[in-house]
Amino acid sequence: MQLTNLKVSNEQVNFLQAVRQGLGQQQGLFFPTHWPKLDINGLLAMPLVERSSAILHALIGDELTAAEIKQMVTMAFTFIAPLVPVSDDISCLELFHGPTLAFKDFGARFMAQALVKAQSGKKTTIVTATSGDTGAAVAHAFYKQPGVQVVILFPKGKISPLQEKLFTTLGENITTLAVEGDFDQCQALVKQVFDHKALVEKLSITSANSINISRLFAQICYYFEAMAQVPVAKREQVVIAVPSGNFGNLTAGLIAKALGLPIKRMVAATNANDTVPRYWRSGQWLAKPTVATLSNAMDVAAPNNWPRVEALLTQGVIARSDIETMKVDEDDTVLSVRQLSQLGYLSEPHAGVAYKALKRSLQPGEYGIFLGTAHPAKFKEQVENILGTLIGLPETLARCASEQGLSKDIPANFFALEQELLKLEQV
Ligand SMILES: *Cc1c(COP(=O)(O)O)cnc(C)c1O
Repeated sequence: MQLTNLKVSNEQVNFLQAVRQGLGQQQGLFFPTHWPKLDINGLLAMPLVERSSAILHALIGDELTAAEIKQMVTMAFTFIAPLVPVSDDISCLELFHGPTLAFKDFGARFMAQALVKAQSGKKTTIVTATSGDTGAAVAHAFYKQPGVQVVILFPKGKISPLQEKLFTTLGENITTLAVEGDFDQCQALVKQVFDHKALVEKLSITSANSINISRLFAQICYYFEAMAQVPVAKREQVVIAVPSGNFGNLTAGLIAKALGLPIKRMVAATNANDTVPRYWRSGQWLAKPTVATLSNAMDVAAPNNWPRVEALLTQGVIARSDIETMKVDEDDTVLSVRQLSQLGYLSEPHAGVAYKALKRSLQPGEYGIFLGTAHPAKFKEQVENILGTLIGLPETLARCASEQGLSKDIPANFFALEQELLKLEQV
């Protein structure tokens, strides 16, 4: 398959190159220019792994064989994505049944498989910084993957203890470094690593960042999984609300629609970080400083996937009327989580934002789906404060909460990080 750099249009790469590189020249995103035609009804009749393999093979083309893609998907999609009814005409697509209890497991696990293929068996070191969820998903995705070392930097004491335990307790090929600094300093350190060409070369270092095209492709698959669970009579009336931060999730849904999945409309729901809803109304892109909210994984003022949404509009495969944008403030987020609880459905702030936006958008006769992007226990404190009751921990979280964290403290300087990386060379 051919992908084009959205900033430098004469830079064209194939899928595996795009996976390896992550970003193109001038930090441009890679994106396909053509989309395959799919037999939608045939696909909707298949089970998750078979269907997802077929979709990804149609997208990626002959760079990988059908058998290779099937094997990658089998390794990556090892958990369910059930559509759980909360009322007569509304369901939640639960994307949090993976090892780190957030939808990022889908993208991270497929990316891990794709990166191994893209490196064609060469020893690889993944260096990445995390403020929480992404690090855990990446760590689990590469855990015990032969030939791959993973180094994760996180700001010491600045992420929730539960989040920290999810990736610092793994050991084996996962090295975790607690940096004495904030998240921005962690990111700056990772940047310095990539600027150090000799070191990058020596350890064959790559990144596993959120704009990698393989993550986006993996996420397309669960929109099909959602539709497959909608009663046939309602499939032409489906409206899907997505809690959005960097807009990767929304982009994947729009691609599913462009590929022919009969989604009537997508609702992009944001918290107070509402750059996109304001832009949609006024035509002016004005990113204000990021504000902290209850749905903190969506606290993004400059969503880095937005150029891909624009590309779909420019290509004419998505129309402006296919997208509705909506900002949900903190009070409404709290109300939304409470309303869901009254319906007998335990939720958390991110899904709460999407549910509220969906309720505002949904018309009589339509069938609404909102995405459950994280397990409520991952936001235990916020949910307990909102509902005034205690909630339990699922087994995975309870287990690793009692294990020993294996991270090593390092000061926020490049020399310290370099020493740690060079130690891996001897492994
Ligand atoms: C990352 C994340 C989001 C936002 O997804 P984007 O693809 O960045 O828009 C929403 N909810 C949760 C729980 C997340 O971790």
